[in-house]
Amino acid sequence: MLKTGAEHLDSLRDGRVVYIGSERVHDVTAHPAFRAAAETVSSIYEMKRAPENLDITSYEEDGERFSSYYLRARSRDDLWKRTQTHKKIADLTFGLFGRSPDHVAGLLTGLAMKADVLDQKSGFRGNLLNHFDHMRRNDTYPSYAVIPPAGVRHADIYAGEKREDPGLRVVEETDSGVVLSGMKMLATGAVFSNEILIGNLTPLAAEFKEYAITCALPCNSPGLAMWARRPYAQTATSEMDYPLSFRFDESDVVVVCDRVEVPWEKVFIHNDAELSRGCYIMTPANCFSNHQSNVRFWSKMSMLVGLASRVCQSSGNDKIPAVREQLGRLAALEGAIAGMVHGQVMAYEDWPGGPEGYVCFNRRYMYAALNWCTENHSAIIDLVRELVGGHVLQMPADSSVLENPELRAQFENYFATPFMDSITRWKLLKFTWDLIGSEFAGRHTLYEKFYGGHSVIVRNQSYREAPWDDFHAIVDDALAAIPVPGIPGINAMDR
Ligand SMILES: Cc1cc2nc3c(=O)[nH]c(=O)nc-3n(C[C@H](O)[C@H](O)[C@H](O)COP(=O)(O)OP(=O)(O)OC[C@H]3O[C@@H](n4cnc5c(N)ncnc54)[C@H](O)[C@@H]3O)c2cc1C
Repeated sequence: MLKTGAEHLDSLRDGRVVYIGSERVHDVTAHPAFRAAAETVSSIYEMKRAPENLDITSYEEDGERFSSYYLRARSRDDLWKRTQTHKKIADLTFGLFGRSPDHVAGLLTGLAMKADVLDQKSGFRGNLLNHFDHMRRNDTYPSYAVIPPAGVRHADIYAGEKREDPGLRVVEETDSGVVLSGMKMLATGAVFSNEILIGNLTPLAAEFKEYAITCALPCNSPGLAMWARRPYAQTATSEMDYPLSFRFDESDVVVVCDRVEVPWEKVFIHNDAELSRGCYIMTPANCFSNHQSNVRFWSKMSMLVGLASRVCQSSGNDKIPAVREQLGRLAALEGAIAGMVHGQVMAYEDWPGGPEGYVCFNRRYMYAALNWCTENHSAIIDLVRELVGGHVLQMPADSSVLENPELRAQFENYFATPFMDSITRWKLLKFTWDLIGSEFAGRHTLYEKFYGGHSVIVRNQSYREAPWDDFHAIVDDALAAIPVPGIPGINAMDR
């Protein structure tokens, strides 16, 4: 079943507990801090079920129709269908929603393509597969909180320090399930989602078994509260002043649990620290979710190039050869990420295989793109900053100017350029400021550094997947070909 936008919004009015500071938000679809972003999420659901998109955004299995981001790929065409679906979703938000419904859905789909790994020690394979089926049948929006708190990652570093960590962990086992208490960071998009996956995407020291719990929590679970960071829409004076803060803040929350009961059928891993992290790289889970991140970055990059060019056009700077060179550089960077996304599909892998013949995006190319995005985003934003100059600070403080006829006439007269009228220029420059200078922009800079884990984690993925034997063979052959007095070199033609 493909949900309508209205049905999704309805599903968020479920009694969930969300706090902004000490204020309890009772309805995220109505509260000014979240309302417009909730509408953005709703529009994703509408786009997905529009008849002209269905071929790409959905698939049929056993007579039922599901969202394509729940498709377990068996061919390059299936992978491409996933990519195109991510692109359509990301284009709707200019790549500004990192955890749109397709991100964690990709991770769960990847797990469901090799769910046997969950049975290695814990026997929860069936739970995961049933949960996957429940998610796709209800077109559920999942988010996740999968980073262990700092104190439980490296027991060796903290040796000798007695810690009472407040991190989310199992505090009791019962016949019906487990009981969780503590906090877990940082669930992006959770206030607009239906379920939160709890787990560990980064390493967890073996002795902290109780933190290894991997399970699904409905957002309205009794005892669960979401503590939001400052929602940027709340301080945006109007959509015209802060167009992105107003409509595209996906929000981040810390998940706080006070004796939340999780039934066994929603538990996927328990008491196994190694597997709680390993399951994402032993299956296509990490690759599928981060492929979405790569596609999302591509959407953002296309928007950034268009934006920088329009700002330069509005000032006439686009006619300066040195400026065109910088715009060309930006366009080349956009082409680079587009190529990296396509390469992951073209060079796909016959993995994890199995009786169903499942396939995956090229993992190495995906991790390389992840590293590229993480490394380059700040520099790209800086390049855009340089190109737009001080224009972004020349606009009036807020749009109340337009409500005063005298001031409006002056604004329309003085703030135009020979190349752009003043109102269009206002929108363009406020949009740009929200991307490179506002608090919303600052959050994005941080997000692009950390969404796949910090740089050490991201690069370690590439280290792990690299074909070192092949790389070493190149060097070893080259060295062997160098003649040493008394020992003949191996001719390149003979190798
Ligand atoms: C905007 C935003 C959205 C997020 N959304 C989500 C989400 O949806 N779900 C989720 O689960 N998490 C989310 N996160 C959390 C994110 O995954 C973590 O921030 C990230 O993994 C880094 O962990 P940390 O913040 O605890 O920083 P730390 O691990 O404390 O790292 C901070 C810095 O310390 C240094 N450092 C730490 N460890 C090492 C090491 N071993 N070697 C060398 N240097 C090291 C590095 O310089 C690193 O950058 C989000 C974070 C941000 C900023």
